[in-house]
Amino acid sequence: MEELSYLKKVESNARTYAQTFQRLFVSGKGMRIKDASGQEFLDCLSNAGTLALGHNPPAVKDAVMDFLGGDHLQQALDLATPAKHAFVQELFSMLPAKMRDTSKILFCGPSGSDAVEAAIKLARHYTKRSTLMAFHGGYHGMTAGALSAMGNLSPKAGNGLIAQGTHFLPFPYRFRCPFGTDGEQTDQLSIDYIRTVLSDPEGGVTKPAAVIVEVVQGEGGCIPASAHWLRALREITLEQDILLIVDEVQTGLGRTGTTFAIEHAGIVPDILVLSKAIGGGYPLSVIVYADHLDTWSPGMHAGTFRGNQVAMIAGAATMRQIRQDNLVAHAAHMGKRLESGLHEIARRFQFISDIRGRGLMIGVEVTKPGANQRAGQADGARARAIKLNCFDNGLMMETGGRHGAVLRFLPPLTITEAEVGMVLDRFEQAVRKAGETRPHYAREAV
Ligand code: PMP
Repeated sequence: MEELSYLKKVESNARTYAQTFQRLFVSGKGMRIKDASGQEFLDCLSNAGTLALGHNPPAVKDAVMDFLGGDHLQQALDLATPAKHAFVQELFSMLPAKMRDTSKILFCGPSGSDAVEAAIKLARHYTKRSTLMAFHGGYHGMTAGALSAMGNLSPKAGNGLIAQGTHFLPFPYRFRCPFGTDGEQTDQLSIDYIRTVLSDPEGGVTKPAAVIVEVVQGEGGCIPASAHWLRALREITLEQDILLIVDEVQTGLGRTGTTFAIEHAGIVPDILVLSKAIGGGYPLSVIVYADHLDTWSPGMHAGTFRGNQVAMIAGAATMRQIRQDNLVAHAAHMGKRLESGLHEIARRFQFISDIRGRGLMIGVEVTKPGANQRAGQADGARARAIKLNCFDNGLMMETGGRHGAVLRFLPPLTITEAEVGMVLDRFEQAVRKAGETRPHYAREAV
């Protein structure tokens, strides 16, 4: 195909999804997308968790078309506009009650990474401290500051001293307990360790400006933190006067079966980072933070494209739709269906070792049978084989986690029960095929 080979020739080797899914994609509706040959795929990637309502949702499309039909400003730096007013009101009405009346919002350059940069910068400015704490397996973006908080070493390779000033802490990954236990004690051990690191006068680690955390690690392999662990982390950071930045770029707006994933634990962060779904499929990112932190001066986090009006219109329409159709509860319900179907499948295949997640953010970890390790060795090659079989079968999803051994389901919140059934059928066929043929254990780029 001419378009495909031209793009393959001129596009960077740093591109990611296009290397795996080598088709020309021409249309999308709901959770179905089509390539140029007419093959249809169920999209469980949703633009990396962005498309809460799937592709081309009518309500969002109508709102955008209506807006484009007028002479509204399409880009407006950070100027006040009716679109921004409506968006902020809609977003604030969805925030947990404790945050609604005491928060400030900053529109950032339209990527999750830039909002993470803003959050780190604000924390440093407010506390007058420079270091940061992040978690093994964490993903916060690709710009320098955000990358410094990234667990995955591959994108940092050859980038010099990019992680200087960031201290990494053990995330409560029960399946692969960082303390070598069977997972029962992982949460408590992690909390005890964090408490020690932060309070030991001889611990060698200076007090950071902030701790940055995902409630469910996404790219890190769909690893949820328990409510107990999150509450304890909030407690310790408050005790120690350290800001807590919660990165809900991927989990925000219904994905995990609550509007925001922090609601599972009832915690209130100092800074909440949002992007992906809040722009209704268009680029938008913000930080929402406690108003007493608002001590920085004009221009301390600027950027040209902070006024993406179409994204504000689309985001507000998305939030309205989520509320009207009760899609958060629907996501929780569909997530349970999907998860229990996956458990059924796992019973038939020994190499599926863990299924975990929250709502419609579910990960399936694939392992080689291990003799002396409960979890076995991560099997990125077989996970990749399953992913490619899924794609052949008309199911699109990505891998993540350690060695790319976790298959990640991120369907739109609008997925129907029938679609859950189709996803499970296609997935099982793909797993069966990958089980029959021993995959080539080449090391793959994650
Ligand atoms: N934080 C989290 C939790 C993410 O999942 C991502 C993107 N996958 C980012 C930050 C970075 O967002 P972006 O790719 O828009 O820069």
